[in-house]
Amino acid sequence: MIEASDLGIAFSGTQVVKGVSFDVEPGESFGIVGESGSGKSTVLRALAGLNRDWSGQICFDGNKVGLRRDRTFYTKVQMVFQDPFGSLHPAQTIDRILSEFLLVNGIGDIDGRVNRALAEVALPSSVRFRFPHQLSGGQRQRVAIARALIAEPEVLLLDEPTSALDVSVQAEVLNLLADLRQRLGLTYVMVSHNLAVIAHLCARMGAMQHGIMVEQLTTEALRNDKAVHAHTRELVDLSL
Ligand code: ATP
Ligand code: MG
Repeated sequence: MIEASDLGIAFSGTQVVKGVSFDVEPGESFGIVGESGSGKSTVLRALAGLNRDWSGQICFDGNKVGLRRDRTFYTKVQMVFQDPFGSLHPAQTIDRILSEFLLVNGIGDIDGRVNRALAEVALPSSVRFRFPHQLSGGQRQRVAIARALIAEPEVLLLDEPTSALDVSVQAEVLNLLADLRQRLGLTYVMVSHNLAVIAHLCARMGAMQHGIMVEQLTTEALRNDKAVHAHTRELVDLSL
C-alpha cells in the first residue's frame, strides 16, 4: 500500500534521513522506533506530504507520489500528531475543528459526519460545543483522531500518539487505535520512541538511528530476542 524507497531528507545541507526504504501492506500496522532525533517524525511528515523536499520515491497503491501535493493521496492518508493541544486550534470549537475538512472540500452532511466521527472515538456529541482546553488530554487526542477519521482515510500516520498522555490514558488510546484499525480496515504507520507502545500495536517495525533504518523485524522476532542490530537491542534493554 505504501512503498518508500531510498528516502532522503536534508535540512540546510544536513542529511537527517538517509536511504530509508520500507513497505507497508494494506491493513498492516508498521512501527518506526528509534531514539530522539533519529528522523522518525521527518519520515512520517514526508509520507503525509507536510515536507515535500525529499529524494527517493514514495508509492501509494503502486502509484508514484509526486513532490507536488497530490490531493487524492493526501485525503487517503491522514496524520495524528503527538501533542493534541498543539495541533487543535485553541480558539475553535471541536465542532469547527472537525468540520474543517468537510468545509474545505465542500462535503455535505456535516452534522451527521461529525457525530459519526465522535461516536467512532467514543466521545459524546455534547463535546462539539466545547473548546480544546475544556477537554482532558485523552479526550483531546480522541478529537485529533476523529479529525483524521472525518476524511475517511485508508492510512493513518501516527506520530507519538500517546506520548503526551498519562499512562492510564495511553492504554485507552492505544486500545481505541487497535479497535479502529480492525473495524475500519485502516493501515497504520506509527512512530514512537517507546518500543512497548510500538510492540502493542504493530506486528512489524523498523528501528532508526541517525537517519538510517538500521533494522526491520517483526514484533514476534523482537519478543523472541531476535533483534540483531545493537541499536535495536539497546531500545529493547531501555524498555525493560
Ligand atoms: P523525537 O523522538 O525527539 O521526536 P525524531 O526521531 O522524530 O525525534 P525528527 O523530528 O525527525 O526526529 O528530527 C530529526 C533531525 O532533523 C533532528 O536533528 C532535528 O533537529 C532535525 N529537523 C527536523 N525538522 C527540521 C526542520 N524543519 N528544520 C531543520 N532541522 C530539522
Ligand atoms: Mg518526533
